[in-house]
Amino acid sequence: MTKSKRILLTIILLLVPVIILADDHGNMQTKKGFLDFLLSAKYLVVLIVAAVGVTAIWMNKLSFKVRLILMSVSFILFGVITIFAPWLFVTPSPVCAATKPFLYGFKPQFLATLSVIGVLSLAVGKGFCGTACPVGALQELLHRIPWLKKLKQKKVPFKITNTVRIILFVLFLIVAFTFATSTYFYYNLFDLIHWEFIMPWFDFILFMAFLVIILGVSLFSYRPFCYFICPMGLYTWILEHVAPLKVRLNKDACNNCGVCEKASPCNAVKGIVDGNKLRADCHLCGDCIKSCSKSALYFGLKH
Ligand code: SF4
Ligand code: SF4
Repeated sequence: MTKSKRILLTIILLLVPVIILADDHGNMQTKKGFLDFLLSAKYLVVLIVAAVGVTAIWMNKLSFKVRLILMSVSFILFGVITIFAPWLFVTPSPVCAATKPFLYGFKPQFLATLSVIGVLSLAVGKGFCGTACPVGALQELLHRIPWLKKLKQKKVPFKITNTVRIILFVLFLIVAFTFATSTYFYYNLFDLIHWEFIMPWFDFILFMAFLVIILGVSLFSYRPFCYFICPMGLYTWILEHVAPLKVRLNKDACNNCGVCEKASPCNAVKGIVDGNKLRADCHLCGDCIKSCSKSALYFGLKH
């Protein structure tokens, strides 16, 4: 059995007890509190998927194929199977969890999503975004289609993407506190995985236009929704700076050849090699680590 098949089989086997647990858990619930949300099966599955992704990059086993399998599993588990198994749906979605507390207060379900994503991000950088987010996974799968290679070389500077992301968040705060509504209602990619397209025709046209643009741009730009729009992406970007486990550089081994920068889809690796305190989001794809013939880049603790 190949390595990738073994990983897939392990994930499926690990999910069996979780699925059984979920049925019992669902029957027991009447009025849910923070712990009920936090200990629900979907977060257990999220943690398992995140553990597989983090272990793979830590052990330097994150080949193109393994990453493709991991992203497909995340999208199918949390974005497609949810149609038949709604208990697997990461709800409130990361965008809702990041914004709705400003509108409706800190409800237990918002706190549960924020806690799981927050702890994962604090420990392992983009421990959630880079492994278990279905929307992140979908964008990455599209980006990995080997088309538009020349366009892929041109990366939008992080200063621009992050400025747009911050402006959208500030705009949201102003609108939320003034009109008690959310601007993200109009550009939330998580709406796609609700798979509900029955809506007023004008909203439908707007949503489809947004969908076509974001998914189309994903073909040549790495995770545009994450870098330009997602408020959870903004939160986890802040948290990943203090995470002990992340992609790091062994300065003694690096000869500044620039190969990793060309091989990576992100803007993060330049900041890592240059030793910048502030760096772009790293989604733990492992491409930079694989590209370095000197093994100067690694995922883990500071040596
Ligand atoms: S930034 Fe948002 S959309 Fe992207 S992976 Fe994180 S939560 Fe998902
Ligand atoms: S290529 Fe970029 S996103 Fe991928 S692991 Fe390296 S720094 Fe992180």
